[in-house]
Amino acid sequence: MKILAIGAHPDDVELSCFGTLALCVSRGDTVVVCSVTNGNLGHKKLDKETLSLVRMVEGAEASKVIGSSYCTLEIDDMKVDENSDEQILKVVNLIRSVNPEIIITHSENEYHSDHTAVNKLVFKSSHLASIPNYETKNSPITHIPYIIYMDSVEGAPFIGDTWVDISDTFELKMKAIGCHTSQLEGKEEEDYTDLFHIAEATASYRGLMCNARVAEVFKHCDKRRVPTKRLLP
Ligand SMILES: [Zn+2]
Repeated sequence: MKILAIGAHPDDVELSCFGTLALCVSRGDTVVVCSVTNGNLGHKKLDKETLSLVRMVEGAEASKVIGSSYCTLEIDDMKVDENSDEQILKVVNLIRSVNPEIIITHSENEYHSDHTAVNKLVFKSSHLASIPNYETKNSPITHIPYIIYMDSVEGAPFIGDTWVDISDTFELKMKAIGCHTSQLEGKEEEDYTDLFHIAEATASYRGLMCNARVAEVFKHCDKRRVPTKRLLP
């Protein structure tokens, strides 16, 4: 199976679903991770150009840890716009080039405007990708991929319908998160936005809900047809 995971920023997909994606890779799936933005505002000291390069390398390193491919659409931070024809074209081309059965992305209830915009961009673009008269450099796909929403990044209410036990891949997930050095440095001891803390707290809480040590939770997009069999591990 081909799976395309689309997050707004480098590190979002890692935080919300890398344990599951690592399981997907180990069962033989092809996984492509995409950060819509280049993450160029996410640092207090590095300038935008330097930071976007640093974060591209960090994202690629993180994906390498679980055996997925990595790409970015190189849109600037805080500039994701679901009504931009240019951005829709980029997402459609991405979907057409990967031709996934499943797209995993942000739900609509998220703390960051880039996340909620990605939710809408993906919904629209996944439909457009199948329409032959919407012409791009890549050929249209012959189906509309299932969309599965990943857990919210900072604990906003998220009602899931599918839990995945990630006990076997949690270490890999944390190792991948550790690749995002620019997001980890300079944190105070009691700064609970620390990426490791977010990942541990969320995975333990979701594990509590399904009697696993650590877990990730997902919700299928029910605005379209949903699969009759379980697609996630
Ligand atoms: Zn983000």
